[in-house]
This record gives sequence, structure tokens and C-alpha cells, in this order.
Amino acid sequence: MHPFTLERPRDLPAALAFGAQAGRNDAPAEYIAGGTDMVQLLQEYVRRPDRLISLAGLLDNRVEIGPQGLRLGAAATMADVAAHPRIIEQFPVISEALLNSASPQVRNQATMGGNLLQRTRCPYFRDVGYAACNKRAPGSGCAAVGGENRWHAVLGTSEHCIAANPSDLAVALVALGASVEVRRAGGDRTVPLAEFHRLPGDAPHLETVLEPGEVITAITVPASPMARRSHYLKVRDRASFEFAVVSAAVALDMDGGTIRQARVALGGVGTKPWRVPRVEAALAGGGLDPAALRRAAALAADGAQGRGHNDFKIELMQRAIVRAVEIAGARA
Ligand SMILES: Cc1cc2nc3c(=O)[nH]c(=O)nc-3n(C[C@H](O)[C@H](O)[C@H](O)COP(=O)(O)OP(=O)(O)OC[C@H]3O[C@@H](n4cnc5c(N)ncnc54)[C@H](O)[C@@H]3O)c2cc1C
Ligand code: SF4
Repeated sequence: MHPFTLERPRDLPAALAFGAQAGRNDAPAEYIAGGTDMVQLLQEYVRRPDRLISLAGLLDNRVEIGPQGLRLGAAATMADVAAHPRIIEQFPVISEALLNSASPQVRNQATMGGNLLQRTRCPYFRDVGYAACNKRAPGSGCAAVGGENRWHAVLGTSEHCIAANPSDLAVALVALGASVEVRRAGGDRTVPLAEFHRLPGDAPHLETVLEPGEVITAITVPASPMARRSHYLKVRDRASFEFAVVSAAVALDMDGGTIRQARVALGGVGTKPWRVPRVEAALAGGGLDPAALRRAAALAADGAQGRGHNDFKIELMQRAIVRAVEIAGARA
């Protein structure tokens, strides 16, 4: 592990001041919240900051539900959000995405803000023994494009990076139209989650629109009747403690047996949490009959590109959408 100094700022303005200095002086510094992703990456020399700025105790950890919708403080843990009775009842897709993530120990420690910023599980990124990884070492190439790519993305990729975004929570939140509240020394701003993560393009090391020193303070989800009739379906190599091979988050507004409106997002297949508006449009106005669902789900494959080992994901993601819509549609 590269030696670093741990800063324990007394309040958020002090943390933001450290963050801003880090950008100005070009002294590598990183925030740390629950540490469940950061510590692994420090141990493996993937991240080598000189300074870690602890956010412990500085950020809101409340879960609030009101007429405008849901607000999750950035420090709320995955466990607390997943187990919240009103989230289970009114936003089941969020609770399901979290309960299908990681392990109870990790969920007790990991925070909402850290979850959205966790780094990819691409094995070439996480093992510094591989020289070629544009995300870890810009300009070094991509070992996955011609290498082992079973876990990688088929949507939103570039020749420079095909890493899948690993967050289950982000997929559920994108389906619900969530936004991220961000604070910097000069003020606050709100970013729709669908625009928060960047496509890799020719700069895969830039993963989000966060500026250096900015902190996530909360996540908001607008009130919607669709959130109640939602479901997160995760396909993975083993039944627990495993990242998604493919996942689908679905929220439906139903009129009897007819889908008035649908929101659908995919995980495990995109370089960012991947909403599929063409699938949503095709589902609207239809019913739950399998042939119609299948036709709508096929539109998710538009622009998908397999790299050999991950070709199977293109078919699997369509099946995941069909199954997730059936399950959400059957909910009262
Ligand atoms: C064994 C294991 C299995 C896992 N399985 C899954 C899984 O199946 N599905 C899944 O979705 N996730 C999974 N995860 C990932 C886990 O969800 C993340 O590690 C966790 O959510 C990160 O939260 P944290 O608070 O620990 O973040 P940290 O590790 O502290 O930080 C992560 C990143 O976020 C930044 N950061 C944290 N908070 C803020 C903030 N408020 N503002 C700005 N920057 C911030 C840090 O600088 C760092 O870059 C797994 C993790 C482990 C260790
Ligand atoms: S897919 Fe992205 S993270 Fe993985 S080796 Fe290629 S550049 Fe690195």
C-alpha cells in the first residue's frame, strides 16, 4: 500500500477545502466514506493517493420520504436503506437491488455516495500486473478488448474501454429517474443520475461528471406511482455475494392489464447504468403477453456489441427484461 495521510476534517466545509486544495496543488487526494471499495484498491496499489479525506460523520445519513419523493443522505448505509419499511413498500426496486448486492457485512458499512462511485470490477483494472488499462493508466491500451471479456459491457463501449459499471443501486435509481445532489466549496448543484456517469469514449479514466473536490451529499427520487410496482432482477454466477452478469430494473404504471408507462434500465451490460427508452416506448400501451414483451425487449439490443466471451449477454439481457416486467406487472 502506498503510504498516505488520513485527514479527519471537523466538518464538511473543512473536507471541501481539503478537496479543493487537492485539485489546485496537484497533490493526489481522495475522499473515503465506508471504505469498502477504496481499501481494496489501496491494498492492490490500484489507487495511490498521498492523502485520504475521511467523510465519516460529515454527511447526512437519513432516509426521508415525503410528497416530493425520496431523499437518501449520502452517508446512509446500503443495509439501512434496504431494510427501510417504506422503501420496501414504496420503492421495492431499490431495496431489492441493495439486498442483491455484496454481503451483509459490506452493506452495513457501505454508503449511498460510495456505491455510485465504486470502480469497475474489470480484472485488468484491479490487477496492476496488467500494464494495459486505459482506465487505470490512461493511454496504456485495453487488455480486455482482445482478452477475457465475459464480465464486460456490450452497450456504450469504445475501443478504449469496455468495462461494465458494477453498481446495482445505480441501475434501480436510473429506472426511477433519480438525481444526485453535489456540493463543492462554491455551492450546490443537482445532476440527473442518467447524466452522472460518463461513457468511456477516449477518456475512460473520467467516469463521472464530478469535478475534483466535489462531494455527493444526497440522492433524490421523484414521487411516482410507478415506483411501487417495480422490480430488480439480477442474474449472476452464484446466488449471493456476486456482481451482476446481467440485471434489469423495471417500474410500471398499469391500468388493469395494460401498461400505461414503463421505465427500464439494465446493469452488467453497459459502461454506465443503461436506460432503454425504446423498450419503454414499445411496452407502453401493451399488455403482459410474452410475445409482446419479447418484441419490446429485443429493442434493447440496438447498438449492442459483444467481444466474444460476452456475446451471450445480448440475448440474456432481453430475457431479463421480459422476466422483470412480468414480475413487476404481477405486483399489486
Ligand atoms: C466483496 C464485495 C462485494 C460487492 N458486491 C457488490 C454487488 O454485488 N453490487 C454492488 O452494487 N456493489 C457491490 N460491492 C461494492 C459496494 O457496493 C461498494 O464497495 C460500496 O457501495 C462503496 O461504498 P463505500 O461507502 O464503502 O465507498 P468507499 O469505498 O469509501 O468509496 C468509494 C469511492 O467513492 C468516493 N466517495 C465515497 N463517498 C463519497 C461522497 N459522498 N462524495 C464523493 N465521493 C465519495 C470515494 O472517494 C471512492 O472513490 C461489493 C463490494 C465488496 C467489497
Ligand atoms: S475494459 Fe476498461 S477497465 Fe478493463 S482493461 Fe480495458 S480500459 Fe481497463
